[in-house]
Amino acid sequence: MASAPITAADVRTTSLAARMLARALTLRCPACGGNGTFARWFTLAESCPHCGLRLHHGPHDHFVGTTLVNFLVAEMTWAFGFATYLVLSWPNPAWDALTWVSVVFMAVLPVTMYPFTRITWLAVDLFFRPGGEGERKDTTPIAP
Ligand SMILES: [Zn+2]
Repeated sequence: MASAPITAADVRTTSLAARMLARALTLRCPACGGNGTFARWFTLAESCPHCGLRLHHGPHDHFVGTTLVNFLVAEMTWAFGFATYLVLSWPNPAWDALTWVSVVFMAVLPVTMYPFTRITWLAVDLFFRPGGEGERKDTTPIAP
């Protein structure tokens, strides 16, 4: 059974998703690419100063998604580093150093990653629910 051919709309959608994620990973607005989405490291601005996208949208479930993504990225990054170190240093890994590095890494990485995962989760949410209730102050379409 053959799958449906890829259409121009599919390519545009994939391109848009990649662009929105790239904007989010550089802490810019996923909708327009403008700067100023964070007032401080942990303080997301109320809305995008360029396009008016409400950055605090949705109820508390948005925060749960952000936290989930944050811990998944931190855990996966740690696991990959741990496994790589074990393979490269076997049969004599420095267990004590590995333990302390792991503790520091697991405490620092989620804090460091917070703004990135917060705005990335917003980009994912915005991609799948572009016209959600109260998402934007205006009806300007997402910049291609
Ligand atoms: Zn914007």
